[in-house]
Amino acid sequence: MTIHDSSRTAAGDLGDISTEELRRHGHAVVEQVAAYLSSLESRPVLAAVQPGALRDALPATPPEHPEALEQILADVDRLIVPGLTHWQAPGFMAYFGTTGSVPGILGEMLTAGFNSNAMLWRTSPAATELEQVTLDWLRQLLGLPGPLFGCINDTASASTLYALAAAREAIPGAQIRERGLAGRSDIGRLRYYASEEAHSSVEKAGIVLGTGREGLRRIATDSAYRMDAGALEQAIAEDRAAGWLPFAVVATVGTTSTTSVDPVAAIADVCEREALWLHVDAAYGGTAAVVPELRWVLDGCDRADSLVVNPHKWLFTPLDCSVLYTRRPEVLRDAFSLVPEYLTSSQDDHSVVNFMDYGVSLGRRFRALKLWMVLRAFGAEGIAARLREHVRLAAELAAAVDGAAGWERLAPAPLSVVCLRARPAGVDDESELDALNGRILDGVNAGGRFFLSHTRLRGRYAIRVAIGNLHTAGQHVRGVWDELIAAAAQG
Ligand code: PLP
Repeated sequence: MTIHDSSRTAAGDLGDISTEELRRHGHAVVEQVAAYLSSLESRPVLAAVQPGALRDALPATPPEHPEALEQILADVDRLIVPGLTHWQAPGFMAYFGTTGSVPGILGEMLTAGFNSNAMLWRTSPAATELEQVTLDWLRQLLGLPGPLFGCINDTASASTLYALAAAREAIPGAQIRERGLAGRSDIGRLRYYASEEAHSSVEKAGIVLGTGREGLRRIATDSAYRMDAGALEQAIAEDRAAGWLPFAVVATVGTTSTTSVDPVAAIADVCEREALWLHVDAAYGGTAAVVPELRWVLDGCDRADSLVVNPHKWLFTPLDCSVLYTRRPEVLRDAFSLVPEYLTSSQDDHSVVNFMDYGVSLGRRFRALKLWMVLRAFGAEGIAARLREHVRLAAELAAAVDGAAGWERLAPAPLSVVCLRARPAGVDDESELDALNGRILDGVNAGGRFFLSHTRLRGRYAIRVAIGNLHTAGQHVRGVWDELIAAAAQG
């Protein structure tokens, strides 16, 4: 058979757009990103657009003919950027402050260029081995004892799901991977535990894993929003007596609402006594351990079976990058490894790691590259100095709130988030205070310079100021405080 080369036809080149074009537009894109980052101070943090604005501005049908990259890139600036909420902006203090830092951006560019798939060792040995080396560096930075297996997932939601799947796999004799859960009368209903303040991803995992939402029992917290280890122990005893089958506990280091840190060592004691898998959700708070004086946040975590920490939250790495560590990689592997003929390789003798064996995804982006570049470009000292500054700024804001008449803090601020509300003298009605603080939040957000989000603490509406973006400095924290005071004055 003759294979004709028809890659050049009347319709043009059938291959990719040329590397000359890449050079030309690549430089332009770098300029575009740099100009975007330099412009953030002057843009409203929240997109000032109505729903449907972009949909209406774009053609409803795909292009029939090729379009010039110049035109496409110009449309990014003209049509897309105005509809972005600027997570990189110094005034972005909603949810958790995150940063796609310069080394991280460059790493993402290289990752796209290589387009390597880190599913098997042989599908990119360097991608697999860089993931191993970088996660061991990160382990050392966090002060966790080695050896510790780590793998990178897209999000903490996936990492926690996988950890709980491993915990489920570790239930003696249950063989849930093989036999499933439906119609099983030989095992009790599965139950796992997390505090009232644990993230919704912990609950979502139960939806996927077949425990149902009822499979998660929420444990009360103390006055600082930390899990009550005594209440945990009591709940487990009650559940065992009622025929449930407890199998895991999720402790949180840095809860979403207040950044409270559960007493992991006390929880680990309970887990050891009860033979339960201990998973730690340190998605946001874990990275604080890079700062020597904040290393206490991971106290007791050396005893966890698994732990998730998200470099895409407070470690300057662009979305997405979530690290799942486990002391029991063989159990995680047992939970997920399934190797069809077409994925076998001569390295199946366990002499190398094939990361596809440790989760649901087969295809895996080369995410280690950007994390490695971030760790090298900032260094341990540089990372610690930046995190320390965020914590200092949060402490300054907390002190300002504590010292201001008509304001109160609603939770301790151990890390870089401050939960506060206005409480003018004479206003004691909780629903009135909720409404007032909702108006204050809307007022600040409408100003455009800042974006704040809220939570509810013991039923009370709390404004959250989350510091953690590399572009945020003292002037921004002072600025948001001034705007809160001004919005409160409007009532
Ligand atoms: N865990 C905690 C404590 C969080 O605050 C969050 C998100 O903010 C998550 C998990 C989920 O993170 P991801 O978006 O990576 O799934």
